[in-house]
Amino acid sequence: MPESGPFFDTGGISLERLRRDTPGCSEVLHLNNAGAALMPLPVHRAQVGHLARELMRGGTRAAREAAEDAEGFYSAAAKLLGCGRDEIAFAVSATQAWQTAFHALDLKRGSRVLIGRAEYGSNLMSLYQEARRRGLEIEILPDDAATGSVSLEALAAALERPAGLLAVTHLASTGGAVAPAREIGALARRQGVPFLLDACQTVGQMPVDVKRIGCDMLAATGRKWLRGPRGSGLLYVRGEMLDRLCPPLPDLAGFRWTGPEDFVPRGAARRFEQYEHSLAARIALTQAILYCLEVGPETIWQDVRRLADKLRKDLSAVPGVTLQECGAPLAGIVTFELERMSAAQAAQALAAKGINVSVAEAGAAPLDFAERGLTALLRASPHYYNTEGEIARFCETLRKL
Ligand SMILES: *Cc1c(COP(=O)(O)O)cnc(C)c1O
Repeated sequence: MPESGPFFDTGGISLERLRRDTPGCSEVLHLNNAGAALMPLPVHRAQVGHLARELMRGGTRAAREAAEDAEGFYSAAAKLLGCGRDEIAFAVSATQAWQTAFHALDLKRGSRVLIGRAEYGSNLMSLYQEARRRGLEIEILPDDAATGSVSLEALAAALERPAGLLAVTHLASTGGAVAPAREIGALARRQGVPFLLDACQTVGQMPVDVKRIGCDMLAATGRKWLRGPRGSGLLYVRGEMLDRLCPPLPDLAGFRWTGPEDFVPRGAARRFEQYEHSLAARIALTQAILYCLEVGPETIWQDVRRLADKLRKDLSAVPGVTLQECGAPLAGIVTFELERMSAAQAAQALAAKGINVSVAEAGAAPLDFAERGLTALLRASPHYYNTEGEIARFCETLRKL
């Protein structure tokens, strides 16, 4: 019996169809979309379809036959982010996309780098490694007490002196407030400071328009809110930035060998790609983006918020639960603690009952966790294909743990 629920106004896709498209719904109550979402069938079919071509005809010929589908990635991603297809590169993860952009900046010795408190652990590793090598001066911007995200006042003040990079996370892996990316972008643009946005937790969850935000580079992953396959991600690079960037890992996909002095880039943002990656993943990510566009990013965002707000409300009525979030606007990641057991114990007990949540550990937002004295939180992240009935069942199960 499909659970009844609201009907979507964009594209007229019913919840019933969305759940039929998502066979995983019949197996698990999935509240880990911030970790890895359930794939819809068209995404899975695209991926195994390409693997079947490779099985029967070999990877090279399969790639030739699927060239049109694989090319479709750039237009789909460009439509999703509101940019040109020449400004998109495929990446195998958000981390790889972020690292590529960061190292391509080739920052001058002693450059100042401004970052937010929500920054992801892997990004911090690249930052601090380069800080040691090149004497970069990393400045952590404080949060605004009211919004719970990067203080625009502090940012404006920090931007009064020259900086080589501003790196901000749109929404932390551990939840909390969505950063005011547009206002941040406007401040960075005014000072001409390159702005790298980690949009791993927002692309696919809400509308993200790179031109409106005014970021120079953006990194996102496939497997989270976009519902794509593992091993997929994307990098946006603003066209005007291309000539200021030096791809850190050039290879024959991005460049043509013309001699030791100089290689010729094959395309705009594609110079950041590596030759070898899973075409099946790229083709499946394309389907995931098209699926997201069909449902509609604005519709998705409204639904995620509705479900996450219900989750927060229901959770606050469960004895022993402490929500660990502040600021506004909050999104589809809800983090909390349980009085009776650790986050890891609770996640394990829930998994035994067919419920997927995850444990947000310090590495996901080390600066923020240190500041708030946290070590691990339970994280529940509903997507638009979840139902209010599932949220109620989740809270009921927690109550009985
Ligand atoms: C998950 C996550 C990443 C890393 O994404 P990968 O695709 O696993 O590399 C980066 N930043 C944030 C905010 C994340 O939540």
